[in-house]
Amino acid sequence: MHILVCVKQVPDTKIIKINPKTNTLDRASAPAILNPYDAHAVEEAVRLKKEYGGKVTVLSMGPPQAVTAIKKCIEIGADEGVLISDRAFAGADTLATSYALYKAIQKIEKAETISLILAGKHAIDGDTGQVGPGIARRLEIPPLTNIIKVDSVDSENRKITVHRKLEIGHEVIQSSMPCLLTIEKEINDISYSPLPNMIAAARYEPMVWTVADLDEVDKAQLGMKGSPTIVGKMFPPPKEEGGKKIEGDAKSQVKQVLSIVLEKRELFAQKGGK
Ligand SMILES: Cc1cc2nc3c(=O)[nH]c(=O)nc-3n(C[C@H](O)[C@H](O)[C@H](O)COP(=O)(O)OP(=O)(O)OC[C@H]3O[C@@H](n4cnc5c(N)ncnc54)[C@H](O)[C@@H]3O)c2cc1C
Repeated sequence: MHILVCVKQVPDTKIIKINPKTNTLDRASAPAILNPYDAHAVEEAVRLKKEYGGKVTVLSMGPPQAVTAIKKCIEIGADEGVLISDRAFAGADTLATSYALYKAIQKIEKAETISLILAGKHAIDGDTGQVGPGIARRLEIPPLTNIIKVDSVDSENRKITVHRKLEIGHEVIQSSMPCLLTIEKEINDISYSPLPNMIAAARYEPMVWTVADLDEVDKAQLGMKGSPTIVGKMFPPPKEEGGKKIEGDAKSQVKQVLSIVLEKRELFAQKGGK
């Protein structure tokens, strides 16, 4: 079974700052990491490979530095990596990103049929969750989103059974293969990479393709030109105020809590509440 995982290198959003003048992410303010959801997707692909046999290929679109994210995937246990990198891809929104990745997947598929595609639930920087389903739509395969468990794969009959997270609980779905899964973090724990994987990753050089390496590409659908999205404004969310600290002995704390509750009730009543 050939499993393809789409992975994105992202700035660590726990650290990144927003440039208040340009309203854009100050990418230099944070280190680049493998999108955490994609790490879980690679871990799951490697687990499936161990259980059902086959091979895991990872695919990324990004600047040359994105090679580091691919090496991280090799460390987790992926077999091969492809980076598509070209100035023509720059400035891509999710529509243009899914088109470029779709074209690369078509090329990979020419050499070896793909049974399953995995993507993260979302990327922690762009956060749209659109790229995975966008790729599935272009390939005309079922997109199965928010997957928390892969129950079984029946390669012979080309069927997969997965658990999909819902707001409350989860549902069990059976789908035909090939299909595309978007992966939630709950699906697995990422294990420590064994030393041989680390050595293999350090030595590994992924294939790097430019636009010229892809077949029958409509350049108007790539990069900034192929991106209808306009970012109107970007701003950090307002800082949440900390809660009120109640101090003193138990009796005085109860008094303080009661007075807050009564005050809130009064305000609520003034606003027409009952
Ligand atoms: C006008 C505009 C210009 C932009 N210019 C740039 C730019 O120059 N450089 C830049 O880095 N971003 C740019 N972006 C952001 C870029 O469009 C998104 O980061 C990208 O399309 C992915 O969307 P997302 O982050 O919401 O991913 P999501 O849809 O949330 O990601 C879901 C999953 O899709 C897969 N995926 C997403 N992106 C990639 C990728 N690149 N390679 C492989 N797999 C992927 C991963 O599995 C990921 O977990 C731009 C956005 C806009 C609107």
